[in-house]
Amino acid sequence: MADLKKKDRKYIANTYTRFDLELVKGNGSELSDESGHQYIDMGAGIAVNTFGTNDEPWKRAVTEQMDMLGHTSNLYYTAPQVKLAQLLCKKTGMKKVFFCNSGAEANECAIKTARKYSSDKYGAGRHTIVTLCNSFHGRTITTLSATGQDVFHKDFGPFTDGFIYAKPDDCNDMKDLLDGNRCAAIMIELIQGEGGVYVLERNYVDKVVNLAHERDILVIIDEVQTGNGRTGELYCYQRYGILPDIVTTAKGLGGGLPIGAVMFNERTENVLGYGSHGSTFGGNPIICAGAYSVIKRIDRKLMNNVLVKEKLIRDLLKDSQGVIGVTGMGLMLGVETVRPAKDVVKDCIKNGVLFLTAKNKVRMLPPLNISSESIRKAICVLKEAAAK
Ligand SMILES: *Cc1c(COP(=O)(O)O)cnc(C)c1O
Repeated sequence: MADLKKKDRKYIANTYTRFDLELVKGNGSELSDESGHQYIDMGAGIAVNTFGTNDEPWKRAVTEQMDMLGHTSNLYYTAPQVKLAQLLCKKTGMKKVFFCNSGAEANECAIKTARKYSSDKYGAGRHTIVTLCNSFHGRTITTLSATGQDVFHKDFGPFTDGFIYAKPDDCNDMKDLLDGNRCAAIMIELIQGEGGVYVLERNYVDKVVNLAHERDILVIIDEVQTGNGRTGELYCYQRYGILPDIVTTAKGLGGGLPIGAVMFNERTENVLGYGSHGSTFGGNPIICAGAYSVIKRIDRKLMNNVLVKEKLIRDLLKDSQGVIGVTGMGLMLGVETVRPAKDVVKDCIKNGVLFLTAKNKVRMLPPLNISSESIRKAICVLKEAAAK
């Protein structure tokens, strides 16, 4: 471990502050370090490992495809990509899918689509995209522009033009921005993940979707974190009962391998034409086969279980010493603690549970199939750390 840390510092770019922990293997919601200590995984690789580590059906889907055919490029037809797109459309009612490799890339594609939609219909200049303060949309220069948090903007200018930020849950602010600028789209997370697991009000979301649609402004929902069963529906917009024009997702879609997807409705499905966008790796057959097995298993029964587990976590944390409140939906939850969240999370690691943080909160995004027993153990450790 000491040697690994030294080499990591020497050879890996210094962009991550890592916890003092080397993970070597895992099974379901349990992970082990290099000396055999076990940890309950309440982060799932930041909402990526939808069915935990080493999940058998996902592994089978991936390895069976690996035995057949791996990367081909998008110059040729491959079945796993089409199967996954068809399944996503069937389960959402969206019409077409573009595959890429990450959340930021999915949002880049959504932004390009919104600009082209507006340019095709209204000519140049109507390109502003309204995002929300405190949002997170990725780390490329353009998705950083879309991200409404100054901390991410320091040092990296100049940024892509054409992004303005509205105050979350303030309809008047959104209306003023939509009326005062030549807007192509709004882009929002329904639950701001990196922004501290902040859940947007239903009434606000309904209203801004109407405000946008009355003006033929596209509604882009960033479901990179909230998607793929995380909040108790396949996509969180389905919980809100809204109809977006574009939905982006990534993280949990691939069950552990990198994939991003952009879904288009009838209004946006034909905006991008031949040659207007592409990705070398996008829609890789191996990853799509794994993603298909993930999406296929996100059914009513699993979603009900996610909601039962949310209730269990909320009940266990009720009136806990040092806990101020719980926000979020399904298995995307944030716990505000009296102690700094980072200190709480460090103590939990010492006691065998891996949580995440988001802003001032302890964040949890466990595998969707985590057992109630593991949840009980993990929350017990969290309560102890919060009460210190
Ligand atoms: C993680 C995240 C992204 C960025 O995804 P990457 O795969 O890291 O590029 C974008 N939007 C939201 C809401 C996210 O949570």
